[in-house]
Amino acid sequence: MHNVLLLLAEACLYFGVMAVFFHLRDRIGLGVFICALGAMHFLETYLASVFYVTLPFGIVSPGSSVLFSGKLAMLLLLYIKEDAAKVRQPIYGLLLGNALMIGLVFVLTQHEIAPLPNGQRPDIAFIDQMGWLMVWGTSLLFLDAILMILFYERLGRYLRGKPFLRILTALCCVLTFDQAGFFAALHFVSDAPREVFLGGWLAKMGAALTYSAMLCAYLRWFERNEAGMPRGLADVFQILTYRERYEALAEHIGRDGLTGLLHRGRFETDGQQQLKTTLHDGKSLSLLLLDVDHFKSVNDRFGHAEGDRVLKSVAALLQQATGREGVVYRIGGEEFAILCPHPHAVARLLGENIRAAIKASLRSETFEITISAGVATSSDETPDLDALFALADQRLYLAKAGGRDRVVGTTQDEEVAPLDSREGSRFT
Ligand code: GH3
Ligand code: MG
Ligand code: MG
Repeated sequence: MHNVLLLLAEACLYFGVMAVFFHLRDRIGLGVFICALGAMHFLETYLASVFYVTLPFGIVSPGSSVLFSGKLAMLLLLYIKEDAAKVRQPIYGLLLGNALMIGLVFVLTQHEIAPLPNGQRPDIAFIDQMGWLMVWGTSLLFLDAILMILFYERLGRYLRGKPFLRILTALCCVLTFDQAGFFAALHFVSDAPREVFLGGWLAKMGAALTYSAMLCAYLRWFERNEAGMPRGLADVFQILTYRERYEALAEHIGRDGLTGLLHRGRFETDGQQQLKTTLHDGKSLSLLLLDVDHFKSVNDRFGHAEGDRVLKSVAALLQQATGREGVVYRIGGEEFAILCPHPHAVARLLGENIRAAIKASLRSETFEITISAGVATSSDETPDLDALFALADQRLYLAKAGGRDRVVGTTQDEEVAPLDSREGSRFT
């Protein structure tokens, strides 16, 4: 009984102080709460590996039953009052911080350690063992936190308006999962006996009950009560795993820095894919290749910076004119491609509109910008992207040879520039 009361006292102290930090987050910053959460981690792991007390149902460690369970309760509180983006900060911070610790310990062991006057020596093996346990513990925490939050969200469907049951169920399930995982490691590292599993599990269930009651009381009396909107599981998962950042990065990687348009690599992959599906569905895919006329002279006369500005304006105009129906790519310095699902006549008209719009809006007193374009549409003669590209390229060449500032959509006027007299493709 003495031990139960002490564990309860520890839980009250832990929850009480952490709740104060959380409550004051607007004034002192959320960092205080998060760092305090992290500071408990060494004690938590140390206790869980060597400090056990006897309870009526087995032996338990305050490290797991009070500190670890409490940390999950705190993460749930953070999620309920803030959001998934805040919760991921401590879970990634702990995981990476512990991995760093292992790396540092490895380097430290390479020192020749000077003996102290009193003969004391550092217990590197102990730190190392703690480090690995902490990495394992935080890897589990990482999974636990994601599971707990997804579970908490899903439970909202059935237990809306019953916060105590909702929090209790989420904590009980996740602590059961965690007990299995942490015990496996503990058994492996310090040969913990089986009773530790059952005792630890019962203690964690007791902790879930205690912390759920404290959390509900805190939420009820110390936090403003806005009705939390249900959050989509996919979105929450996406944020907890930084997936949205990854997607933004992947999107950014495929883009050209100057104009923000997709670049040549994306053109190749998108084009092949789209052509395959259009041929399969019996629909049409048109390709417009556009090249700014005498662009070199813009650079030569007005400087590269002015040239860049013109390219940006051309890109913006292309996107505006193409709209959502097609996709614009920058496939070379002043060369652009548009893939759109239009039949040939419509694609030519789009090309013509673009040509006229650029000529009308990119003129200044000193220079006029025009473009030439070649348009080709998928058919039996263009089984792959290379063939479609070659056809559009050939027509772009005709547009240039015919005097520029024009859109060419047929190859009939080949006499303007016989194919075999060309010095090769404009695009390599
Ligand atoms: P044509 O009408 O035959 O297409 O003539 P052109 O001068 O446009 O053709 P050319 O391909 O010879 O020149 C393209 C120029 O585009 C050469 C290069 O200096 C310029 N350029 C390519 N990329 C950039 C860029 O990112 N910024 C700027 N300012 N210029 C670029
Ligand atoms: Mg060019
Ligand atoms: Mg050009």
